[in-house]
This record gives sequence, C-alpha cells and structure tokens, in this order.
Amino acid sequence: MAKISTKAAKALKKAKKGKAVRVKPAKARAKVQPWSKAEIEEAFRRFQEAMPEPKGELHHVNPFTLLVAVVLSAQATDAGVNKATPALFDLADTPEKMAALGEDRVRDLIKTIGLFRTKAKNVIGLSHKLLAEHGGRVPNTREALQELPGVGRKTANVVLNIAFGHPTMAVDTHIFRIGNRTGLAPGKDPLAVELALLEAIPEKYMMHAHHWLILHGRYTCLARRPLCEKCVIADLCKWPGKTVLMAPG
Ligand code: SF4
Repeated sequence: MAKISTKAAKALKKAKKGKAVRVKPAKARAKVQPWSKAEIEEAFRRFQEAMPEPKGELHHVNPFTLLVAVVLSAQATDAGVNKATPALFDLADTPEKMAALGEDRVRDLIKTIGLFRTKAKNVIGLSHKLLAEHGGRVPNTREALQELPGVGRKTANVVLNIAFGHPTMAVDTHIFRIGNRTGLAPGKDPLAVELALLEAIPEKYMMHAHHWLILHGRYTCLARRPLCEKCVIADLCKWPGKTVLMAPG
C-alpha cells in the first residue's frame, strides 16, 4: 500500500466516521485532465434533467431593466442588486424615464450597491445613448451593446442570452472558476474560458449552459468549500481536490 501523508491519514480518519473529506493529490497543483465529449454531454444532460428551465436571478421587467441590472451587478451580488432595483425600476423602466430621473437621483437609489457613483453615471450615459442612437431600444448585437457605457463583453453576453435568446456564454467569476477547477474549459482569462466552453458544450445545451454553470458555481461548486458531496457531476469532475464521500469502514 502506498505511503500516505499525515494530512491524508487525518482525512481517512474523518472518512471512517462517514464525513466528507477533500482528497488532495500528492502534487498540490496536479494537472487537471481534459473531459471527453461523452462526459461533457453527460454533465449537461444531468444539469438539464435537474433544472430544465434555468432562470437568471436578476430582477427585471424588460430588456432595458435587464441591461441596467446587469450593469449594476458588476462586482456586486445579484441579491444586493435586487434589493435596490425595485424602487429604481418603479420610477424608471425605460431609457426616457431613466434619463429624466437624472444621475443624482439614480445614485441615491442605488447607493447600497458597490461602485454606485460610477454605475449611476453609466446608467444615465447608456440611457442617453440608447435614446440618441437606438430609438430608445436595447440593441440586439454584441458590438452595439459593448459601445454603451459600463457594458463589457460579459454584460453583452448576458443581455444577448436572456433578452434576445442568443446562445452566448457570459463568463463571470463562478464560470471562470468552474471552467478551470473542473477542467471543463481551462483558460487564463474569462475570454479564453468563454471560447473553450463555446467549443466544448454541445449546441443543444448552449442556450441554458450559462445559467446552469452560474447556478452550479453559486450554490454547489463554491469558491472556498465546494459541496462536492451534493454535486450532480462529481463523478465526472476532474478536479484532483474534489471532495469524495467515503463509506464508513
Ligand atoms: S465535484 Fe466538487 S469541484 Fe467538482 S464540480 Fe462538483 S462541486 Fe465542483
């Protein structure tokens, strides 16, 4: 039998009591293995089975309020944004109303959200641009969306997916972590992970893949303590540090 470290011996002791343990490889940074096509298909089949119609968690009532909510969610939680937006959207659910509300009022209404000063400026700026260049409507292309103040590739991808039904992949912190940790789509930056996921995920799952992965990262594959014991793809995941539940013995 192979020699095990003191840490591993402790983990085994825990496992014998039926507790979940994280099994780390001998080399802390062992290379994560790639997934086969069949494994990827199986992972997304399970995500679909578990949640056939996944939904984003940012409250919105139309493409404009979705766009504003996504802009507000940069470096903030959806829950935090959802606390502030009902009052904002009650007053302004169109670019016209938002522009009329003005930057000071918007800033006041979103002051519980991080970076609220810059975000208020961007929300007013994008409202004016939508009115001036897009007839007050949210454009349906990545290029036009990314020209709006405060709108980057990720925000554009979310709007394209949720508002217009494009099979885009918006890589946030959760998806970036999952792509790299599990080996599903390793990449050094969000764009690399996005492209790797677009390449790897079967087309039939692309429309909902972004939501499945975000929800998986938010509720299961957590940053500090992934809940591998509850994970529907635990057997497929390639992360060498994943937790496995060992039977008492
Ligand atoms: S097994 Fe653990 S690390 Fe792998 S995807 Fe599931 S929760 Fe994440």
